[in-house]
Amino acid sequence: MQQTTREWQQLDASHHLHPFTDFQALNKKGSRIITKASGVYLEDSDGQRILDGMAGLWCVNMGYGRQELVNAATQQMQQLPYYNLFFQTAHPPVIELATLLTEITPPHLNQVFFTGSGSECNDTVLRMVRHYWASKGQPEKQVIISRHNAYHGSTVAGASLGGMKGMHAQGGLPIPGIVHIDQPYHFGEGQGISPHEFGLERARQLEQKILELGVDKVAAFIGEPIQGAGGVIIPPDSYWPEIQRICDHYGILLIADEVICGFGRTGHWFASEGFGIKPDLMCLAKGITSGYLPLGAVMVSDRVAKVLVEEGGEFNHGFTYSGHPVACAVAIANIKLMQSESIVKRVNETIGPYLQRRWRELADHPLVGETRGKGLVAALEIVQDKRTNQRFPTAANAGMTCREFCFNNGLVMRAVGDTMIISPPLVITEEQVDELVSLARRSLDLTAQTLKG
Ligand code: PMP
Repeated sequence: MQQTTREWQQLDASHHLHPFTDFQALNKKGSRIITKASGVYLEDSDGQRILDGMAGLWCVNMGYGRQELVNAATQQMQQLPYYNLFFQTAHPPVIELATLLTEITPPHLNQVFFTGSGSECNDTVLRMVRHYWASKGQPEKQVIISRHNAYHGSTVAGASLGGMKGMHAQGGLPIPGIVHIDQPYHFGEGQGISPHEFGLERARQLEQKILELGVDKVAAFIGEPIQGAGGVIIPPDSYWPEIQRICDHYGILLIADEVICGFGRTGHWFASEGFGIKPDLMCLAKGITSGYLPLGAVMVSDRVAKVLVEEGGEFNHGFTYSGHPVACAVAIANIKLMQSESIVKRVNETIGPYLQRRWRELADHPLVGETRGKGLVAALEIVQDKRTNQRFPTAANAGMTCREFCFNNGLVMRAVGDTMIISPPLVITEEQVDELVSLARRSLDLTAQTLKG
């Protein structure tokens, strides 16, 4: 089917409901049709080249067009395109991947439950932690504590665990047994307090909440090491050690949602290592296959696995596509590629620091109130007044305006309110970082002109 852009857009508007989209608004405008990609660049149906500053949706970590991943999928499709894991059966790719994951994740994580996505990982952990406590004879330990403005996916449990008000408003969420405390967003909510104090204050809300609910009711705490979709919120250094201390002290499980942070994004294989967290459960997806195929994995610690195996009986949970052989084969090839290219070391030692240095230069721009980042993920805050960090009125749509300028000038940069965020493929070169930063600056200039006008 060879269509013009206009024809694609008309068919798209007629038949396709996009995720997280105002259907009517998009249909009026027409979607951008992405037809191919290579390395860090996308190409649309008009032939425009666009630097993908978001690695798709934080997932195409090894870049587009990797033949090694295509070969792995082709070979596995020919060998065994599908089989399930329900009938006391397994297959080589799922076993090999489970083994490989336990080698690259922290040493106390030695069991894996596979899913098809990040959301399904979080549905899995919700049921798994409740089943864990019930198996230990404490079925009343049900409540999971999360944070406002967290993102844990779009299924009923994922959206309930998440703290997005707009998501809760549709469909009667959150479901019972999930409560939210405040997020460690220093720029947005901690002005005037030192980051150290603010981090401690926000972490200690966990302790207050446990005491308020009763420790006998609380099952777990869940958090993204760095909140991604919420706006690349990097907690102060004091935050995670205090959360870990509180979880240890009260004996509640710590769940790290590493769907974005995992697989090298922050310069460590997993951000938990960088922040010194020891999660009982760790959710992985996205970068596990560099987004080439859908796959999720819940890493389960020895202490949780022991109870599940020895006392849990049957765990009544699983998906048709749990451990899909083709997705597993691609994940194995992807992890081996990451190892052979020493990509995590590169993010930690060279390209990450380079991007962070260049990105921080944007702090001198009149619209920019703060720049921050770690490894290859970064954010900047658009403000009206740099001295006070006062925001533009919501109606000015500063973030969306900037995002549009970026897209039209050949850069995908995402807007979360007036926070602009990037998460490029880990294979980005220094030259491409230079291009990204200069496109970002140009878009900020154009945004400033428009907002002033
Ligand atoms: N957890 C986090 C931290 C995420 O960022 C996302 C997706 N952006 C999810 C879970 C959900 O993953 P999926 O879209 O694959 O269901």
